[in-house]
Amino acid sequence: MSEAGVYLHVPFCRSRCSYCDFATDVYKNAEIVEDYVSALVKEIENFGNAANFSRPLAPRPTGVDTIYFGGGTPSLLSSVQLEKILKAIEGKFSVAAGAEITMEMNPATVTLDTLKAYRNLGVTRASFGAQTFDDAELKRLGRKHTAADVRETIELLRTADFTNVSFDLIAGLPRQTLKDWERNLNEALALQPEHLSLYLLEIHEATPLAEQIRSGRQPLPDEELAASMYELMLEQVSAQGYRQYEISNFSLPGCESKHNSKYWTLDPVFGFGCSAHSFDGAGVRYSNERDTAKYVRLIEVGDSPIVHREEIEIAAEAAFLGLRLSKGINLAAYEKRFGFDLIAKHHDDIQRLEDLELIKIADNHLKLTVKGFLFSNEVFAVFV
Ligand code: SF4
Repeated sequence: MSEAGVYLHVPFCRSRCSYCDFATDVYKNAEIVEDYVSALVKEIENFGNAANFSRPLAPRPTGVDTIYFGGGTPSLLSSVQLEKILKAIEGKFSVAAGAEITMEMNPATVTLDTLKAYRNLGVTRASFGAQTFDDAELKRLGRKHTAADVRETIELLRTADFTNVSFDLIAGLPRQTLKDWERNLNEALALQPEHLSLYLLEIHEATPLAEQIRSGRQPLPDEELAASMYELMLEQVSAQGYRQYEISNFSLPGCESKHNSKYWTLDPVFGFGCSAHSFDGAGVRYSNERDTAKYVRLIEVGDSPIVHREEIEIAAEAAFLGLRLSKGINLAAYEKRFGFDLIAKHHDDIQRLEDLELIKIADNHLKLTVKGFLFSNEVFAVFV
């Protein structure tokens, strides 16, 4: 089995952004965070211990080479809390020397001392939500930081010796023009992060932004404009030496996210914390209780936090997840692993998608085209 990744969910934020549908609560007090960290540590310590869980868990993997703190805003954790969690992981898994340890952060939530402490504890990579460099847009999104805070955060990260930094930016925000997006990209590139995650805005039903659009207070996103933004982004970032390796992810050579890549190559990832998802690497996915308080209660009384478990069609998932990657699917390797020819199986659909210029076959790899990246859901529908 490949080495596994470990994901830790930290469900606390300073405030709720208008577009967000992640499992996260507004940070109320330090006590709630402390209780949550204790539950998280207990869940890790119980990993693989069938007596503590009502459902079977995946076998223990050979080792772990990536650890990812996501959220929420993990940078609201103190260094003492981070250390407790890392110790619990090291007590349960064999963590590789030089493992990639990523911490998601939000601007204006960290100080130089905190960052130095995280770095000393072994955090190797920082991923933070810049989203836009326009203060009016940040305000409209309900974010509690300014563009100046983003610039200051990257300076602090560099001073604290972080040499692998990623930003998230969102394109297609309400009222954002192509020029605005170009300015955002230029601002981001000027800060020379090693990695960029560039997303097109998605509207999730139960969010304040969806309500603002329904009531006409914000305009509906313009799909054609979003497509132009995506194409501009591909041009700009590749001109600066970044390589697209997945639909929304770009990096300087060698700085791809090893942890996130595990999701696309179906390597095992074990998730801890409320709403965390896991995959055992062999065909079983399971996920935890989403509600923070319920999750803590389940752990405190010694129950399993797992609320959903399913066996997946691994050949189908390998196809559509493989297509997310720029290198596409190695057709020979696919046939060797699953025992059938992917092209022959989906011959008519693949011909249709080729005619629509959404996919292409080159060097025995099946890949999305640039147009295919934009309309990827239409392609994925064939394989699920
Ligand atoms: S900071 Fe991130 S996780 Fe928190 S509310 Fe905003 S988008 Fe959601």
